[in-house]
Amino acid sequence: MPKKEIFIVLPYLGFQSKIVTQQLKSCIHKFYGCFNPKIIFRNTRRIKSFFPYKDRLSRSLMSKVVYKASCWDCNDCYIGKTKRRLHDRKTEHFKALTSNSHSSAIADHMTQTGHKIKWDHFDILATGQSDIHCKIKETLLIRDLKPALNENVGSEKLLLY
Ligand SMILES: [Zn+2]
Repeated sequence: MPKKEIFIVLPYLGFQSKIVTQQLKSCIHKFYGCFNPKIIFRNTRRIKSFFPYKDRLSRSLMSKVVYKASCWDCNDCYIGKTKRRLHDRKTEHFKALTSNSHSSAIADHMTQTGHKIKWDHFDILATGQSDIHCKIKETLLIRDLKPALNENVGSEKLLLY
């Protein structure tokens, strides 16, 4: 009687996978002799998910993100998106502090209230594959979270139905 093939799909564990395969096969052979196991490994997690700490450090280098800036002194926050590196966008907000251009709601909040913004704690709320993708996510997040500092921003509005 031919052995019945069974397929076992497991997350890929690097070199450990070889050991797991051998153990699993011998175990099945021993206890379930009528089966012929085929073991398949899949990459279910991205490499970077193994390095959450490193990832956090390199947040500023990420691009195409929707970010949230919060205030140390009140509950106000601002949601924005950038297709460039978050660090570059942050620098722009910072420069707006001295330029008097009112090009940054964050800078305006600081000059109007004397509050301090959490420059080192910009949260990344979402990432996108393209600028328009980010714009859609930004619009939805602003709609849902209603960040106070976005209220007076006259940026282009994306209409979503
Ligand atoms: Zn504030």
